Amino acid sequence: MTRWQSRFENSPRFQRISRIDEGGIRSKFLKETTKMSKRQTSLIVQLRSGHISLNLHLHRIHKSDTPHCPHCSLQGRQIPESVKHFILECPAYNIERFWLRGKVGRDANSLKALMAKEQTMKALIAYVDRTKRLRNIFGDAPPN
Ligand SMILES: [Zn+2]
Repeated sequence: MTRWQSRFENSPRFQRISRIDEGGIRSKFLKETTKMSKRQTSLIVQLRSGHISLNLHLHRIHKSDTPHCPHCSLQGRQIPESVKHFILECPAYNIERFWLRGKVGRDANSLKALMAKEQTMKALIAYVDRTKRLRNIFGDAPPN
């Protein structure tokens, strides 16, 4: 059943159906990301799923010795480097977060709000670029 479902979800037919279904989350996401590049969309998908090159995920897939945030570890605090920590909490990115707040206001306090609209997603991507944390994967390409 699971195999069937994943095959179905990857089929062109499903992609078509979910695009037509205006109310669906997938189609709303597609709509908000139509004007974004592949790289931008891919980054948002990774942030949403948590399957991203931050230590919490890397540790799970045995590619990092630790699940903890490298910056906070230096301060003697053991905090899992989750997407939430990276975007909303880690003090190492206070300057970048201050910039993000200037761009999107209160939406900067919520992962859900940040990933809901094209405008906030673009600001979020620019935030990620500014932190340089994922630089090894995403390179230095400008956010647009
Ligand atoms: Zn941290």
